[in-house]
Amino acid sequence: MNAPGSALGLSADQVKLQAHARALAAGPVAARAAEVDRTEQYPWDNVDLLKEAGLIGMTIPTQYGGQGKGWLDAVLAIEALSAACAVTGRIAVETNMGAISAVMAYGSEEQKKMAADMVLGGDKPAICITEPDAGSDAGGMTTRADKKGNRYVLNGRKHWITGGGVSRLHLIFAKVYDEQGAFEGIGGFLAIRDETKGLKITKREPTMGLRGIPEAVIDFEDMDVPPSSLVIPPRGLKKGFADLMTAYNSQRVGAATVALGIAQGAYQLALDWSETREQFGRPINEFQGLQWKLADMSIKLSAAQALVYNAARSGEGGFPDMLLAAQAKVFTSENAIQVVNEALQFFGARGYSRELPLERMARDVRMFTIGGGTAEVLRNVVAGALLKKKLPQTREGWAKD
Ligand SMILES: Cc1cc2nc3c(=O)[nH]c(=O)nc-3n(C[C@H](O)[C@H](O)[C@H](O)COP(=O)(O)OP(=O)(O)OC[C@H]3O[C@@H](n4cnc5c(N)ncnc54)[C@H](O)[C@@H]3O)c2cc1C
Repeated sequence: MNAPGSALGLSADQVKLQAHARALAAGPVAARAAEVDRTEQYPWDNVDLLKEAGLIGMTIPTQYGGQGKGWLDAVLAIEALSAACAVTGRIAVETNMGAISAVMAYGSEEQKKMAADMVLGGDKPAICITEPDAGSDAGGMTTRADKKGNRYVLNGRKHWITGGGVSRLHLIFAKVYDEQGAFEGIGGFLAIRDETKGLKITKREPTMGLRGIPEAVIDFEDMDVPPSSLVIPPRGLKKGFADLMTAYNSQRVGAATVALGIAQGAYQLALDWSETREQFGRPINEFQGLQWKLADMSIKLSAAQALVYNAARSGEGGFPDMLLAAQAKVFTSENAIQVVNEALQFFGARGYSRELPLERMARDVRMFTIGGGTAEVLRNVVAGALLKKKLPQTREGWAKD
């Protein structure tokens, strides 16, 4: 959106950062977005651009080589980039939030140094939670890590893992069992693709949108790792998983931001087109039917932006608040789909053409009510936080019955 930074409570540095990211987005990133979608190739050259522009690893503390910036700083960059290319926006999410932020919060010195170096060098870490039989019910995962002497041996299958095949660093969640076979809880392990035997990328999912980043099936076949790779220890039955979910709130804010950015990009195209396209002898923006659509789109975008910024700000010194992050992701993802769909409508037949970016944006934006917690499951998170109880439609609430 073009709202002035001051109205959004941005600092002078943040307004500068936003302008910097917008310039990069409008220039080289926008120029390649259609090609990235068409070729389905991971945009390594955009990774280099982000690196040069200081837009990856921004949230990594300075002692590990990052910039020690806050979530809102990352959000401003992701929002700007996503308006031009959602794939590049997602790369900015996953090099500033998600797995890297979990390692930075819970890892050992050695793990933090390794992960920071990899991300600052351009690696987008993969976070491996979802399995064919455990999606929304992530706690039902069956990938297991068995302690055998001084090693852990992992077996299982994950699917829809973003970056599978391009990411090197993997944060893998598994049920941990001690040497006697007793269940200890869910833990998170770090492994590097190509350096860890037994970590196999077995399929690339043919996705509807966001085609420049692979979504992969990953099999773990007797993947053998030392205990030093355990970044989130199980610590009792729930603690490891709770740590994961806490860190994941940053990723949710990031995902909401990509949806917001795509919708802002589509809205701007529709706004501009409505001025130049003429029918019945006048610009189409002189028709009240379209004026009200523009008004509704801008209201949705402003509300979404406020929710996203607020959720990002809530994470200062830690991770974003779970309730605010869930509210932001549900509202933004659902409204972004509507805004992009309306923007496409402004172009009539042209909107349906692959020569314009609207159809790509419509495919890309559709993901965000699904990945990283569906809109339904996040409504459960919101309701659970409001009612302060475990709901029967959640694993913990269900287990009580
Ligand atoms: C593009 C993309 C990228 C992804 N990237 C990753 C990644 O990097 N790492 C990773 O681990 N996973 C990733 N995922 C997986 C994603 O997190 C899961 O798809 C998501 O959690 C939903 O799981 P599912 O697909 O198995 O759906 P299911 O859990 O089978 O859900 C099916 C339907 O039932 C609804 N539902 C389920 N339970 C409830 C309930 N209790 N109350 C109400 N409704 C319910 C859901 O909302 C949904 O509509 C990605 C997915 C996509 C599409």
